[in-house]
Amino acid sequence: MAVLTAITPIEYLKGVGPQKADVLKKELQIFTIGDLLEHYPFRYVDRTQFFKVSQLDASMLGAQVLGRLMLLQEVGEKRAKRLVGQFKDETGIMELVWFQQIAWLKKSLQVGSAYVVYGKPTVFNGAISITHPEMELYQAKEKKIGNQTLQPVYSSTEKLKKFNLDTKGLQKLVAHALETVLSTLPDDIPAYIRKEHRLIGLREAMLGIHFPPDQANYEHAVHRLKFEELFWIQLRLLRNKQVNTKKYRGHRFTQVGNHFNTFFNTRLPFPLTNAQKRVMKEIRIDTNTGAQMNRLVQGDVGSGKTVVALMAMLLAIDNGFQACMMAPTEILATQHYHGLKELLGENLCEIALLTGSTPTKERRRIHEKLEDGSLPILIGTHALIEDKVRFKNIGFVVIDEQHRFGVEQRAKLWRKNTIPPHMLVMTATPIPRTLAMTLYGDLDISVIDELPAGRKPIKTVHFFEGQRLRVFGFMRDEIKKGRQIYIVYPLIKESEKLDLLHLEAGLEYLMREFPLPDYRISIVHGKMPVKEKNFEMQRFVKGETQIMVATTVIEVGVNVPNASVMIIENSERFGLSQLHQLRGRVGRGAEQSFCILMSGEKLSKEGRTRLQTMVDSNDGFKIAEVDLQLRGPGDLSGTQQSGVLEMKMANLSTDQALLTEVRETIQHIFAEDPDLQQPSHQQLLAKLTQKGPAIAWDKIS
Ligand code: ADP
Ligand code: MG
Repeated sequence: MAVLTAITPIEYLKGVGPQKADVLKKELQIFTIGDLLEHYPFRYVDRTQFFKVSQLDASMLGAQVLGRLMLLQEVGEKRAKRLVGQFKDETGIMELVWFQQIAWLKKSLQVGSAYVVYGKPTVFNGAISITHPEMELYQAKEKKIGNQTLQPVYSSTEKLKKFNLDTKGLQKLVAHALETVLSTLPDDIPAYIRKEHRLIGLREAMLGIHFPPDQANYEHAVHRLKFEELFWIQLRLLRNKQVNTKKYRGHRFTQVGNHFNTFFNTRLPFPLTNAQKRVMKEIRIDTNTGAQMNRLVQGDVGSGKTVVALMAMLLAIDNGFQACMMAPTEILATQHYHGLKELLGENLCEIALLTGSTPTKERRRIHEKLEDGSLPILIGTHALIEDKVRFKNIGFVVIDEQHRFGVEQRAKLWRKNTIPPHMLVMTATPIPRTLAMTLYGDLDISVIDELPAGRKPIKTVHFFEGQRLRVFGFMRDEIKKGRQIYIVYPLIKESEKLDLLHLEAGLEYLMREFPLPDYRISIVHGKMPVKEKNFEMQRFVKGETQIMVATTVIEVGVNVPNASVMIIENSERFGLSQLHQLRGRVGRGAEQSFCILMSGEKLSKEGRTRLQTMVDSNDGFKIAEVDLQLRGPGDLSGTQQSGVLEMKMANLSTDQALLTEVRETIQHIFAEDPDLQQPSHQQLLAKLTQKGPAIAWDKIS
């Protein structure tokens, strides 16, 4: 018989077979024996310690009790239906309660038998009970796996349980798997690195994570496996960065010419911040190395990323290239177009806007001018990516508000020239360092960590619905001072209709109750035709309307310096980065700005934390960290590559130090041995040619 290894399909493992293999694949995405080994326990039960029923109290997080199941009966009707068991030892009786899987439990539990029960004790009506306990038939002389005290608990599903693959069943399978393949498991992290970082071997770690003999062993295993997980991700990222730099020649911007200089000397309306200057310098150096630049610019809302992008585009033009900037929404592209046009002033260089709603005639004109090279700067939406859009010589691409674009879309921009253009990617709000290192680990990262001088921090307050009239009073005063106000309603994914209802109801209430006779409102929502949307936007931009009532379509990038109040309705429904992004729409002028977070009286704990974080802090980098802690990486930033962020062991919120350590280790490897030619790096090279995670890493730009 062939030797089984980690890559052997799971059905060949003893005790699995085709049927179980099928559910394992469907329910847990376990295809190979190795996958099973990576189905790590989500917690452990200390099986050395037993409690008596009389010792249980509600403060215990979990307790193990040996006793006898005396009685099992179904009580209640319909939704209140539950299965209740009486569980007895020599010190007393407690109740076991189940709300789910009642039929199956009734069949499989043996009344009268001895069980080891594990769960969280609670007290109800003075009696102790455990809801949804783990039940294990007691066997006096059970064969123990190893001599472990901590027993693994695996996540399972109802379907798996039907095939006897509850935590106990999975335990047995994992034990088999370890017996079968452990000795063949290769340890691909080079020995010298293991030694340097005090990592235990992979085999020891696998044993330690599934059947830890003790706490210390468990912790070593966790450390090793976290390191391992981050190591392979970072190795791929940094390898790609390395390869890209080598493989893709880049256009060389050797000179600073007339466009840049004229703009800088005569048009730039403000001095650059030091952070802007620094990033400009980084771009300047990058674009003169002969390699393609792939750079991410992180900066807080309002930190002035746009002007940096513009200057970089002018640099491209000075060197004989065209440049383009892509934004995720039509509103934003339009806004950029007008903003940049104004910054550029007359006669410096032509700039055009291309979106889905550009009229055919204008579109044709733009296409032609791009192809013959007479149009130097193009701003637009996804429309830029279309194959029909061909440049004579594109040298620089800016992608604003990065996370809304898919990977493939960005890759398409690479192919718009024989030598790919330099890429500058700008995030809408800061993302935590660990996320940046993982999502954009193959890009160079610039940070604009400074706001333009003279900005007054936005004052943020949280009001409940009952304080609405005070808010109206405040709005009236601000409008009288000549300021403008945003009122934003949440976008509820499940129901755009409902959004609109909220918005309309809010609007009606506003019109009825708002104590100011002479004001005008712009209304913008996602269901509107683009033309109308733009029209309403422009009215607000020009100051013809004082209040803009909108759904979150205005979220990204909109810039109206005279708007000084942002009111966010149902703010408890927004994520933190979105709240911060919305708040960033104000505070762009010289006036004191305000953000008012309206919410219902009832708030979840997380909702409260979010709003409090907003009230306490204006710092986008800090807010991003809290967001990561609250939500985990998967939901963050709406990124389409979030697959990379679903880690089994490492936690991007808490393992920042480890991630940095891993990244530095790998940077060191590439510095010493760029092509991984040293004998000790052969496993790394082999691993890189294996199929990686299902992500087109090389295309992330
Ligand atoms: P974001 O980084 O959020 O995209 P923007 O580029 O839209 O920010 O800039 C926000 C506002 O700040 C704009 O009105 C812009 O003109 C202005 N601004 C940018 N840089 C400076 C600066 N160095 N000094 C003063 N104002 C600036
Ligand atoms: Mg912006």
